[in-house]
Amino acid sequence: MSIGENYRRVLEEVAAQCEKAHRDPSDVLLLAVSKTVGLDGVKQALDAGAANFGENRLEQLQEKYAAFPQVNWHFIGNIQSRRIKDIVPCAHLIHSLFEERHAQKISDAAMSLDKVQRVLVEVNVSGEASKSGLDPHETKGFIQEISHLPNVEVCGLMTMAPQGDLQVAHECFSDLKLLKDDVAKSLSAEKRAAFAELSMGMSEDWREAIECGSTIVRIGRAIFSDDFAC
Ligand SMILES: *Cc1c(COP(=O)(O)O)cnc(C)c1O
Repeated sequence: MSIGENYRRVLEEVAAQCEKAHRDPSDVLLLAVSKTVGLDGVKQALDAGAANFGENRLEQLQEKYAAFPQVNWHFIGNIQSRRIKDIVPCAHLIHSLFEERHAQKISDAAMSLDKVQRVLVEVNVSGEASKSGLDPHETKGFIQEISHLPNVEVCGLMTMAPQGDLQVAHECFSDLKLLKDDVAKSLSAEKRAAFAELSMGMSEDWREAIECGSTIVRIGRAIFSDDFAC
């Protein structure tokens, strides 16, 4: 199967899973995570209709943003403090914020571009040492702390589930949804309206994520890899 065919198949499957979960397919964004392919791979997905792409490395984000500025580029990787000024000009949405000093720098960089940077706060729901993100208990306080920054808009939460056990992934996603609802209650009406996204679910566990309320599924291998069996 080609990248274009894969993209269209995953898009159909996502819509079918939404119906099954009694959700509106237009409430779930399929983010094509293109980190393993070059410009040609991006072009193939773009021609099949993809309009949102995710990258976890700055160099790739910059190169692909320059080639295809008409689509939305999401930054889903580790944030390095000194690279923030380069991430912000390219990023439609940053999924991986969990440090206050980074939030401050993002706001400063966005201000100099006359932009409000949309961000998601990454939460380490599973507590695995290998995963980054905030402790769930720190999340509400963190969002409170950064709420005064003028050029950052907190649009929701992101997590990565442990791999290999879909039951565990399901619990992880369901916990993030509960946390989002809890945090939302602590926000002003205006900030609550913006706090709408749950970025959760990847190639192996996006079905569970949609059942639990995901609004952004981040899919790499199921679209861009030849040998991903789904
Ligand atoms: C690579 C990556 C994905 C996509 O993973 P697949 O298993 O290939 O679908 C999603 N989110 C993040 C943060 C990633 O780094």
